[in-house]
Amino acid sequence: MFNLVKGTHDVILTEADKYSYIEQTLIQVAEFFNYKEFRTPIIEQSELFQRSVGDSSDIVRKEMYTFFDKGERSITLRPELTAGVIRSIVNNKLLALGDIPVKAYYVGPCFRYERPQQGRYRQFNQFGVECVGVVSPYRDVEVISLCYFALKVLGFENLKLVINCIGDEESRTNYKNVLRDYFGKHLDSMCADCKERYNLNVLRILDCKVPTDQEIVKNAPKIEDYLTDKSKENFEKVKKSLDELGIEYEIDTNLVRGLDYYSDVVFEFHYTSSKGLDYGALCGGGHYNKLVQEIGGPHEVEGCGFAIGIERIASVMSDDNLFNEIDESIDCYVMPLDVTYQGKAIEIATALRLNGFKTDVNLEGKGLKGMLKKALKLSSKYALILGEDEIKTNTIVVKDLTNETQESVNLAEIISYLDRKEDECSCGCDHHHHHHNDEE
Ligand code: AMP
Repeated sequence: MFNLVKGTHDVILTEADKYSYIEQTLIQVAEFFNYKEFRTPIIEQSELFQRSVGDSSDIVRKEMYTFFDKGERSITLRPELTAGVIRSIVNNKLLALGDIPVKAYYVGPCFRYERPQQGRYRQFNQFGVECVGVVSPYRDVEVISLCYFALKVLGFENLKLVINCIGDEESRTNYKNVLRDYFGKHLDSMCADCKERYNLNVLRILDCKVPTDQEIVKNAPKIEDYLTDKSKENFEKVKKSLDELGIEYEIDTNLVRGLDYYSDVVFEFHYTSSKGLDYGALCGGGHYNKLVQEIGGPHEVEGCGFAIGIERIASVMSDDNLFNEIDESIDCYVMPLDVTYQGKAIEIATALRLNGFKTDVNLEGKGLKGMLKKALKLSSKYALILGEDEIKTNTIVVKDLTNETQESVNLAEIISYLDRKEDECSCGCDHHHHHHNDEE
């Protein structure tokens, strides 16, 4: 027996249906905002992430799956997709003035060597978007509203947008100096992580979760007092626009996010269920001023994006009963009562499928009773019985498992017979078993 690699999980059966549903829904909303799909490699040069996600981030410092390939290149399994998508946009020269903005969405696996815990995996999936082009605060608002609508369409109500402005480079340089002064005086009593953050990226101290450190953070200088006029003005526009769109938000001056490429607006959507359960952040994102340039693109181009954890969405939706019943029933179950009729059964099953009936066929041969049991287990609407008499007379017995009636039908007429039955079906069932005449 082989075990799963630590921190990985199988997504199978109904769980896989849930993931597909979430991904398809997110993709539909992104397409509706005129975003296009980007599929970039899972492996990238390690340096891409060092330069973008940043040397001071936890991801780069501790969590990357990095190895040397046989050509002695340093390769990393992507810990997130923004860097790869921007690299792809730059490499493919998609940023010509007439072509911007580039609106990209992506979905796929990411890898982080984290301590596995509830909802945290070493391989997990993200959906996200990147909008890259000329700067406008309304682009940020557009990205935030896309995220908002996507979550709404999935069924999340009571979303809370948590937002902050961490300023442009100039704002941040000033602010970091002030923070270093402030935290320098308290550092002795702070946690080991904070001591490390002090040197690497002092901003990260702001999201320390240690209660005694949070007390110190409470009295720290606030970013809003150090924003340049331009950053301040942009943030005001974003807030006003969100007000106009009716997207409620809360400003959290300690929200900095763990990736180094962010600047100005950063955000998360938090969710509290109707039962009052606080699930915390479902996704996160923000604006980036220098990332495109850092990766070799033009200077004047900036972007904004967010990423949603599919695992996180699936677990919250399951927990909070946000999934609709997934219909796993079938239309027809073909039952050859003898192994010698299996060839004929496959022929019939194929014809049914080609005519729009979702069909399965029994090739295990467990006798009529066993096969009927299986038909019920599969929630089949019809059982199609192929016995000795039927083979002789070129017919098949169609048993309607909903009302327990059955009729012998000439094989040449099986499709029209089932079509007619479907049209007559007045049982009020809302599941649409028959897909063949969908356009009617
Ligand atoms: P980040 O790229 O760190 O901003 O994360 C964006 C989203 O990805 C988070 O809100 C999580 O839902 C999800 N996520 C990040 N890391 C993991 C992980 N190790 N396992 C599962 N989901 C994750």
